[in-house]
Amino acid sequence: MSLSSGIAGQNDGRNYSFKTVLLGEGCVGKTSLILRYVANKFNDQHDFTKQASFLNKKINIGGKRVKLAIWDTAGQEKFHALGPIYYRDSNGAILVYDITNEKSFQKVQNWVKELRKMLGDDICLVIAGNKIDLDKERHVAVSEAESYAESVGAKHFHTSAKHNKGIDDMFLDISKSMIEKADNNMQNKKTSTTNRKSIMVVDDEQLEQKPKGGCC
Ligand code: GDP
Ligand code: MG
Repeated sequence: MSLSSGIAGQNDGRNYSFKTVLLGEGCVGKTSLILRYVANKFNDQHDFTKQASFLNKKINIGGKRVKLAIWDTAGQEKFHALGPIYYRDSNGAILVYDITNEKSFQKVQNWVKELRKMLGDDICLVIAGNKIDLDKERHVAVSEAESYAESVGAKHFHTSAKHNKGIDDMFLDISKSMIEKADNNMQNKKTSTTNRKSIMVVDDEQLEQKPKGGCC
C-alpha cells in the first residue's frame, strides 16, 4: 500500500489522513508501542527481522474520522541511516527514549533539532519516555524530560508498551494536534484567498468609477 491511499494531511473538516513516524534509538520500544496501540500485543523479544512498514489505525475524535498511518523503522536507526526521506512528509513524530537509558534521551534531542531544522513547525512533536514499568532503573529524571519537552513545544508522555500505559492518550493527543494544524492550514488558505479577492474588487471599482464621477 502506498501513501497515495491517503495523502498525508488531507482533510475535509470531517475526514483526516495523517502520517506519523516513530523515531528513536534502537531497542527503546518503538515497534512495541505501535504493536500495543494497533493490535494490543506485546512481545518480550526484540524482533530484528521486522521490515520497515506502517500500520493503519482509524480513530474517531468528536465526530472527526482520523486515519493514522503509523510508520515503523526496520532497525536502520542502529546504523544512523534514517534520512529525511523517511520523515519528510510526516504530520507528526513520536520521539521515543527508554527511561533506563540516558543516551537514548540524548538521541531524542538530536531528533528534535533535525526535525525542527528540516520541517519547522509543520510537524507535531511528541516525546515518549517508554518502559515506565522499569521505574526502579530510571536514569532520566522526570522533571528534566518534561521541562525539555516543554522548551521545544512538544508534549511529554510516560509510557509502557509492556503494561499498556499512556499509549492511547499519547496517540489521541498527537492526533488532536494534527487535526488542529490541518484545520488552521485550511483556514489560512481560505483567508488569504478571500483577502486577495476583496482587494481586487475594491481596486477595480475605484479605477472604473473615478473618471465617470468627476463632475467638479
Ligand atoms: P525498537 O528497536 O525501538 O523497535 O524496540 P522494540 O519494540 O523492539 O523493543 C526492544 C525491547 O524492549 C524488546 O525486548 C521489548 O520487549 C522491550 N520493551 C519494549 N517496550 C517495553 C516496555 O514498555 N517495558 C519493558 N520492560 N520492556 C519493553
Ligand atoms: Mg523496531
